[in-house]
Amino acid sequence: MEVYVVHYGELALKGKNRGLFEGALVRNITARLDGRRVKRRYGRLIVEGWGPEVEGALGSIPGIKHFARAESVALDIEAIKGAALRLAKAAPPGPFAVRTKRANKAFPLTSLEVNRLVGEAITAETGRAVSLSEPALTIYIEICEREAYVYAERLPGLGGLPVGTSGKVVALVSGGIDSPVAAFLMMKRGCEVVLLHFFNETLHSLKVRGKIISLGERLAHFQGELKLYMVPFGSLQREIIRAVPARYRMLVYRRTMMKLAEEIARLEGAKALVTGDSLAQVASQTLENLRLIYEATRYPVLAPLIGSDKEETIALARKIGTYEISILPYEDCCSFMVAPHPETHGRPEVIAELEKGLVLDLAGAISRAEIESFDLSRAKPGPPAPPRNGSVD
Ligand code: ATP
Ligand code: MG
Repeated sequence: MEVYVVHYGELALKGKNRGLFEGALVRNITARLDGRRVKRRYGRLIVEGWGPEVEGALGSIPGIKHFARAESVALDIEAIKGAALRLAKAAPPGPFAVRTKRANKAFPLTSLEVNRLVGEAITAETGRAVSLSEPALTIYIEICEREAYVYAERLPGLGGLPVGTSGKVVALVSGGIDSPVAAFLMMKRGCEVVLLHFFNETLHSLKVRGKIISLGERLAHFQGELKLYMVPFGSLQREIIRAVPARYRMLVYRRTMMKLAEEIARLEGAKALVTGDSLAQVASQTLENLRLIYEATRYPVLAPLIGSDKEETIALARKIGTYEISILPYEDCCSFMVAPHPETHGRPEVIAELEKGLVLDLAGAISRAEIESFDLSRAKPGPPAPPRNGSVD
């Protein structure tokens, strides 16, 4: 039978975490591959049926270390040899190795015996030489309780943890390059991410919104079901422009965004806020300014790109397919307002004084939020699979 053998990283998975982790991964794969059977088999998952859509999904669901297109055969050395021979005959010439793992200790042969018997059969039938140090072809055999799996190539997964095992967060996405990557990294660490975007109703906002929706569709590829809040920011922005001198506006915008994000987090039952900040990349990202911005909320603020160089972030954005969307020309609501000389070392007492003069209707903005939902189940196909970076061992 045609199956995929799915392996997840096991280091972090001692004790009771393992069951939770496996359960979440099974749920996430099932949700994506609608109706396809997923079975648990001793530290690995088995997904039935081959197909490019299955590989696309397995390559983009967080929590999978690697996966392989395998043949599932009876617990019988002749059946195992047969499957191994088919692989050896189909592969380009070169030396080979056989690597067996035996989860089922009741199987009458040891792993080494299986390696030897299968290896001899391949050499006899194909003339291939054995090389354990530099094989051109590795045949993997996994012997489990009810069947054995035989395959020759491991495809890389994303790694990380299954979405849903680390709690919920609200990620502020601007439409720039950084914030979608930050949202992706939190998904990869097992968070369920709710996206939040602030837009200015008067400023080519339909185009910006189209861009944010494309980013949502792209990110749903990794998380599955995904919710996006789009909160109108124009009237708050006008009030800030009225009361705050240009130098300090960006700081007050961003503090106001944090306060709104906290409200959304409360509505959603999320435990933290996420931004795409990278230390010292722009004026609002000096240590003094980040402190002022993050102090506007009592929620923890996670900035997974804080130590990344722009080049590193761009490389990751390309890999996950958000880069092409992010570089579309339409900027977010604040970019056009950047002052020629923004404050890089904002002072808390100045901020406190300026905010005293502000009348901000935060509840009003939230009540006018638009909510979009994305879903990548079979019924509603999403964007194409992200590019993969070759096979792993
Ligand atoms: P990005 O590439 O994510 O826009 P950046 O390095 O250009 O980041 P800023 O534009 O100053 O820096 O934004 C810093 C962070 O503030 C963003 O990463 C994002 O988390 C948040 N942010 C900025 N503008 C918005 C917006 N319009 N809606 C939601 N979040 C925003
Ligand atoms: Mg930006």
